[in-house]
Amino acid sequence: MTTRSIRPPPASSREVARWALFLDIDGTLLDIAPSPYAVVVPKGLGATLSTLRDRLGGALALISGRALSSIDSLFQPLELPAAGQHGAEIRLASGNVVRVWVSPGSLHALRQEVDRVVADLPGVVVERKSMGIAVHYRQVPEVSGELARRLTDVLARRRRGFHMMCGKFVFEVKPSDADKARTVEVFMRHDPFVGRIPIFVGDDRTDEDGFAAATRLGGHAVRVGTMPPGMSGYRLGSAGEVRAWLERLVNSGTRA
Ligand SMILES: [Mg+2]
Repeated sequence: MTTRSIRPPPASSREVARWALFLDIDGTLLDIAPSPYAVVVPKGLGATLSTLRDRLGGALALISGRALSSIDSLFQPLELPAAGQHGAEIRLASGNVVRVWVSPGSLHALRQEVDRVVADLPGVVVERKSMGIAVHYRQVPEVSGELARRLTDVLARRRRGFHMMCGKFVFEVKPSDADKARTVEVFMRHDPFVGRIPIFVGDDRTDEDGFAAATRLGGHAVRVGTMPPGMSGYRLGSAGEVRAWLERLVNSGTRA
């Protein structure tokens, strides 16, 4: 199998000015760290994103499994249009936040069950989000199979309204109604995204829904890292390459 290394869509200023850019965060904008709390936002990235947002007429959104509050604290003082928790909470360019509904009772019960089944697995980190749970095992990858089995059992008993996705060294339990495809569709129905060409940049299986939606809406997927077999589209090798690409877009004199 060969991995194709293809640069993202060409950056002529007229084309770029028509894009709506959707950027995943961990592994895409930021290098992966040992824990989600340990990531580093490189100096200058906020300024690059801010300039690019202006040049795209505001049509730049961050889309992440992180909570909106976590996204904002990473990039403060910048507050971009953003979707947190895989689209369970979406902040539009207007500042309005759209949330899917989650039963507080179900979420509480689910958290207790997840805490219980991982209690004897040291190194597993349970991240409680307002609308879901992320179970990280980056420090103990050998528990992957056992952890998956236990969490699948929990969801089989308590799956109403929730769904589990596998990411890189993380199992994400999220509201069934939240996914990155719906998120792209919601943004594309609102100004300033309406009528633009969606470009979705992501590094993980959790981004596949976003890639599919962007492509379906006439845009492009840009995968970061290795290209899965049988996939087409564009590729950048690493988060560092993504940041360099964004800087090239800014420096190419693109004007919205
Ligand atoms: Mg990612």
